[in-house]
Formats: sequence, C-alpha cells, structure tokens
Amino acid sequence: MTTLLRAALYPNCTEGVSRKGRFQPCGSTTVAVRYDPDSGDPYPVCAHHARADMVPLLKILEDMR
Ligand SMILES: [Zn+2]
Repeated sequence: MTTLLRAALYPNCTEGVSRKGRFQPCGSTTVAVRYDPDSGDPYPVCAHHARADMVPLLKILEDMR
C-alpha cells in the first residue's frame, strides 16, 4: 500500500492542535490528505485542517480505478 493510500485510509486527523497548552493530535474525521510542506509526506486531515496542498479522498478513489 502506498504512503498516500495509508494516509487516506487513516480515520482521524493527525494535525496537531494545542489543548490547554498541551500539543495533541486533532482526532477529527479524515476528509482529505495533505502533504507535509517540510517532509513532503502525506498525512490525513479533517475538514477544519484541510487547506492548500491537499488531495481530496474522492480524487484518490478515482485514481485507484
Ligand atoms: Zn483536524
């Protein structure tokens, strides 16, 4: 399985958020995959964290056909 697909199939957003001063993963439902601007690695994001440089899951499904 590719790194992109693995990120797309992960159910929870892994973007970091600060809760009460502590850094934690967001954990919301994944809707897209985003490429890390530093490492270039794809990781799952929720609707709140989806922004530039992302790949919608629908596009990934289309590419699998
Ligand atoms: Zn999120």
